[in-house]
Parts: sequence; structure tokens; C-alpha cells
Amino acid sequence: MAELSTGLTGTNNLTASGLAGLKDFKTTDGRAVRHCKIVGTLGPASSNEKTLRELIEAGLDIARLNFSHGTHEQHRANIDLVRRLARESGRQVSLLQDLQGPKIRTGKILGDKQEIITGKTYTLAYGIEQTVPEIIPIDHRELVHDVAVGQRVLMDDGLLSLLIERIEGSNVIVRVLEGGILKSRKGVNFPEAKLSLPALSEKDSRDLLFGISHGVDFVALSFVQRPEDVLQVKKMIQALGADIPVIAKIEKLPAIDEIDAICAVADGLMVARGDLGVEGSVERVPGFQKRIIAAAAKLAKPVIIATQMLESMIENPEPTLAELADVANGVLDGADCVMLSGEVASGKYPVECVRTMARLINEVEGWTFKRPVRYRTDFLARHDNKWEVHEAIARAACEAADELNAKAIVCLTLTGAIAMSVAKWRPHTPIIAISPRRDVVQRLVLVWGVYAMQNPLFYNTDVLLQDLPALLKSMGIVNSGDRVVITAGIPINQMKPTNMIKINRIP
Ligand code: PGA
Ligand code: MN
Repeated sequence: MAELSTGLTGTNNLTASGLAGLKDFKTTDGRAVRHCKIVGTLGPASSNEKTLRELIEAGLDIARLNFSHGTHEQHRANIDLVRRLARESGRQVSLLQDLQGPKIRTGKILGDKQEIITGKTYTLAYGIEQTVPEIIPIDHRELVHDVAVGQRVLMDDGLLSLLIERIEGSNVIVRVLEGGILKSRKGVNFPEAKLSLPALSEKDSRDLLFGISHGVDFVALSFVQRPEDVLQVKKMIQALGADIPVIAKIEKLPAIDEIDAICAVADGLMVARGDLGVEGSVERVPGFQKRIIAAAAKLAKPVIIATQMLESMIENPEPTLAELADVANGVLDGADCVMLSGEVASGKYPVECVRTMARLINEVEGWTFKRPVRYRTDFLARHDNKWEVHEAIARAACEAADELNAKAIVCLTLTGAIAMSVAKWRPHTPIIAISPRRDVVQRLVLVWGVYAMQNPLFYNTDVLLQDLPALLKSMGIVNSGDRVVITAGIPINQMKPTNMIKINRIP
């Protein structure tokens, strides 16, 4: 769904319009822009004009629409609001649609709640409504085929925990390890089981259609179990005539086992720590986080760290030291984005949360960038040392920018691939991508260190390369005497892949 920009009038078509996001380049202390991006979830606390405007001003890069909650009407209103406020503020904000995903639930419990007693045995069976207290209905038809003796069953976000002792016909006999009150329609997790669930529920399909028709920039898929889940959603998006990147949310143990294969077919990953904690146990989550980030780094795909990053700020205006250390750890791990959920969706201090995060990221990056650059090389294993041309150019651009203390690496790009290639090395130099495609500009918002703008620059190589330094200067991105490293594919009007580097000193 490339949307080529028009307006090819005059010779110099480079304009400061679409400069969104680059406002941040105007730093007084010479320190670079923020490289790690911020995702914030919209909800009752943030779905109003005033708060959302402040969130964008504070540094919100990606607005997450959580389709586990809210009506299409509410999401539509949020989409319109984000787009309008982003335009008005001159910033680039992308929209991420987060699909609820297939989730197994208990059926309707007699009297709507029941005490489940520790040590006692119960029966789990497929059903929508409870008929006797000893049998807990589970709304998954394939229940008995999908589970095995010795596996755990968790209910209500892990509040209740059960162990499968026997399987008898269509009944699963469980012993209660940790009891409590069970209410109707509560979520049920089978952490060790690979469930024969479709990638998308009926609701997900309806929501996806809505997202596509409203032009969301990313779709996140919950409870991915296998690569096929991602492929199925991509196929559906394609069948509906769209081309939207799919982020696989890693929140199930089987997905951890297949992380490389899932990453290979997805366009990005999310470390969904909330459900990972429930499925896996909380103390394993930091290790999972490292593994998922490493998998994403190896294939140079963007990765988002999610959930409980500034949890205490739902109630308090200040974060805890532990929370700051957690966010800093994610930044140091090289995550492309850090995410806020309840903090922004339903907390008391949504704007303070984004401000806190932006300040912290700047602080951590400012500190690491004072040391010599250490290029990330995790992805080299993939190549057998056979590089593509654009990859060699990306690396050379990073090194030239570093050696020359350049102010920016400017990528003239159609698809954004070169900007992602540059970003994957994690250079200290900020990356500016200029593309004629609006969808590319919106997507690059998710990528570490990349600031993108839309411009119809595909017409005349010489004019373009001549004019670019002056244009960057007029935008306040660079000053006289600064150096910039430019990559492009020439001749530009033939839409060549990136094949050159040019180094300019700003007049
Ligand atoms: P959720 O996903 O907020 O949609 O549950 C993130 C997580 O599980 O951490
Ligand atoms: Mn989740």
C-alpha cells in the first residue's frame, strides 16, 4: 500500500513538511536524539485530546490500541485523534493494533463464583456453563487432546494453579496446587501445552479487518505459539489487499522454544512479560527477555519490551528505583522500544510516565554514547560473512559517521531497508530516513535511532544531493561546519537500491 507523495513541482521538492519527529534534533547540549522509542497504550486515562497531546509532546512514538478492551467506535475515535494531534504537533506517531488473540476461558460458573480448594481434585471438561460444582467448564473443544498428565493449568492470571493428574475420556482430572475464588469467564493458561487454537479468534478477524480498513501501521498478534500463526495472519492481511508488518507477541513457552523460526517470519517481536510471567514463572522472565532480544538482533528485526515497566506510576507520580533500573536494562539490551500499558491506559499519571521514560532513555543513551561505539554484531552469524551491498554500505556509513563525528546519517530510501540496516549496528549517530512512501515513514518510527520523513525526492540525483545539506541546515538539524553522511541509490529516479555514500560538510 505504498502511498507515493505527489507535489513534484519546481526543482527543489525537498521541504520541511513531514519533518515530524525531527524536532528533537534541536538539542542544545549537542547530545543526540532519543534512540530507543516509546510505545504507550491508549485507554480511559489517555483517550482525550489534552492528555494525548501532552503524551505526544512528552515523546510518545507509537500509540498502542489494545483490542482486548474497547469498542470499534472508541478505537476509531482514538485513531482519528492520534493522527490529528500528530499532524498538529509536527511529530511522527505510529499506530499499533494489538489483537487479543485466542484465549481460553472458564465457562459460566454456578452463582458466578466458586471457591476452589487447595489439595482437592476437580474435573475440567469442555463446556460453556457449569452444571455441577465438581466440574469446571473450559471453553476449548480440544481440551483433552491438547493437554497431558503432569502439566500445569493456571486460572485468572495465575491466581489459581492446578496440576493435571489423569485424563479420563473427555475429562481432565486436576489437583489444586493453589486454590482461591474462581469467577465466570476467567482466563485459563496451559503453559506447557501446545494448543490447537487458530492464530486468530473470530473476534480477532473482525478486529483485524477494522485495523486494515483504518490503516494501522502495525498489527501485534497475541499468544503466538508457532511460526505458522504469524504466517496465517500475514496471509490474511495480504488477502485483504494490505501490507502491514506483524509483530509477534512472545508470551507463551512454546514460542520461546521456536523463537528463531517465529522471528524469521515476523516483522518484529514483543517481549510480553505479563503473560510470560504467568506462563513461565516471573523469575524466568529476565532471561526470556534477553533471549527474545537476541533472536530479534540476530535477524535485525525490531523488538518491543512490554509490561510493568513503570507499574507503580499507575498510582504514584514517581517510579521506583527498581523500575528505572528495569527500563535502563531494556535500553542497554538494545531494545528498539519500551512500552507502557496500564501506566498510560488507566493510570493516574500517564504523561509523567512518558516523560520519565524519555528522560531516562536520554540519560542512559547519553551515558553509553560517551564511550566508544561498540557495533552490534549479533546478526553477522546469519550471513556466513557474505554481505549484501546495502549492508556493507550501512556499516561503512556508521564507521564514517563515527570517525568524522557526523551529525547524522541520512538515508534516501524507498523501502526503508537501508535505514534499518544502518540502525541494526546501533551507531551513536542519529539516522534520518527520507522516503516518498508514507507507510515506510510510519513504520520506521518503531526502529531504534531512526527518524523518518516523507518527501518526494525521487527525481534528480544531482539537485537532490546538492540541496540536501542546505535543507538539513534550514531545518535546524545541522549547523554550518557539521558533517553528514548520506546514503542513496543512484540514479535516484530509477529507484535503484542503495549503492553510494556521500559525505558532506554543511556550508
Ligand atoms: P497484553 O500483552 O498486555 O496484551 O497482555 C503484554 C503482556 O502479556 O505482557
Ligand atoms: Mn499478554
